[in-house]
Amino acid sequence: MPIATVNPATGETLKTFDELGPEELERRLALAETAFAQYRTTSFSHRAELLNRAADLLDQDQPDIARTMTTEMGKPIAAARAEAAKCAKAMRWYAERAEELLAPEQPSAADLKDSGASRASVRYRPLGPVLAVMPWNFPLWQVVRFAAPALMAGNVGLLKHASNVPQTALYLEDLFQRAGFPDGCFQTLLVGSGAVEGILRDRRVAAATLTGSERAGRSVAAVAGDEVKKTVLELGGSDPFVVMPSADVERAARTAVTARAQNNGQSCIAAKRFIVHAEVHDAFCERFTAGMRALSVGDPMRETTDVGPLASEQGRADLEALVDDALRLGAVAQCGARRPEKRPRGWYYEPTVLTGVSDSMRIHREEAFGPVAAVYRVAGLDEAVTVANDTPFGLSSNVWTRDDGEVERFVRDLEAGGVYFNGMTASHPALPFGGVKRSGYGRELSGHGIREFCNVTTVWHGPEPDDVNAPVE
Ligand code: NAP
Repeated sequence: MPIATVNPATGETLKTFDELGPEELERRLALAETAFAQYRTTSFSHRAELLNRAADLLDQDQPDIARTMTTEMGKPIAAARAEAAKCAKAMRWYAERAEELLAPEQPSAADLKDSGASRASVRYRPLGPVLAVMPWNFPLWQVVRFAAPALMAGNVGLLKHASNVPQTALYLEDLFQRAGFPDGCFQTLLVGSGAVEGILRDRRVAAATLTGSERAGRSVAAVAGDEVKKTVLELGGSDPFVVMPSADVERAARTAVTARAQNNGQSCIAAKRFIVHAEVHDAFCERFTAGMRALSVGDPMRETTDVGPLASEQGRADLEALVDDALRLGAVAQCGARRPEKRPRGWYYEPTVLTGVSDSMRIHREEAFGPVAAVYRVAGLDEAVTVANDTPFGLSSNVWTRDDGEVERFVRDLEAGGVYFNGMTASHPALPFGGVKRSGYGRELSGHGIREFCNVTTVWHGPEPDDVNAPVE
């Protein structure tokens, strides 16, 4: 894929970029290594000062960087501004909390009994340069939720961003530089996906994190496995949104619209499969369809737009193929299932609700990356759990119920990295984020996220010379 800004609202190529040559790539990898050697010794308070400055700069830049994101990948402008604000908030959260999250742990004297140690501790030390392979759908947030904890832990970052968001990628390098991070602490590598293997095999790169498709994740994990390098994978999702009879159906349907159509339907944690108890199925579908139909589809630069274009022509073609397959096999389109007539240019697709979805359809097993909802009718909790788990993915899940007994059953049985009750899945700095099954492994955000790229170091001290209880070797 060429590295270029192509406006999805018009299909127009606005700017193209040359890929880094081998010499420049080598220079940057060497710089990452030397930057890490020094940066790893800096204090938490110094790193926090730099990261807080980056957050302040990002707040100031918000209108401009929001326009850049919308131009490159088509998200509605208000959502782009909200994404930038969320990034600044996460930076401040890690700036304030990192030292506490990575504080040395001291096992108690009782726990150390028979260990031979007079004292011991666990320290969290940085690993080195970490390669971040990132997607275009939240072009700032996906990077910041890696970079903020990684930089606070003392690592340095090498960003290989998606090829369709080069200007956002370059902005990030510039942002961290202006904030005062030393040269080489955060670098953007303008390279295509073909260069990832070579970079990951380089001895100076310690680990990798990838957010993206299963295909890309598998490829990076295979190389990292061969090199025995740590990885975190945040891959696709097809999250269930279960509605039980005790639910507030009105609120569930309203939230379902946002949960499905956010980010033009291109979010890994968007609710994609709506599994609705027969008792409330029709009431839910009526409200949900009305809500999806009422969304304003159009120019993402307009403040009132709810749904902009899909990010690429290929992305729309893939989505159309999933919908066509479902319709051919008996699904019914309650709304949408077509391109908007008024938008001949750009890669628009109407918000779509498909009912009567069954396990013979591709959409049952594959991720619909666009504003298309698959609705199932189920007879009870057991069937709801079975349908919810009948997917290769396991990112997050949503359940609408006011029955405490059901809550425990869903927590116990849903195969997902999160279970959100009476609301929609959303990431937050204080909560771990990640999946199971084909949605990947490892966690981002919270204390779990910052420890992923740390060397968890055991520090052991032998017995004091006058310790009469010390074990004899
Ligand atoms: P993608 O095609 O996998 O691209 C993601 C990144 O991986 C890009 O930088 C891409 O570079 C690179 N890449 C692609 N193939 C590669 C390969 N074989 N080896 C190394 N790198 C490779 O995914 P996308 O279309 O940008 O994003 C959509 C997917 O990401 C969806 O499945 C979505 O659910 C998932 N996602 C997951 C999360 C999560 O947190 N779990 C969050 C957001 C998105 P190029 O652009 O140069 O090809």
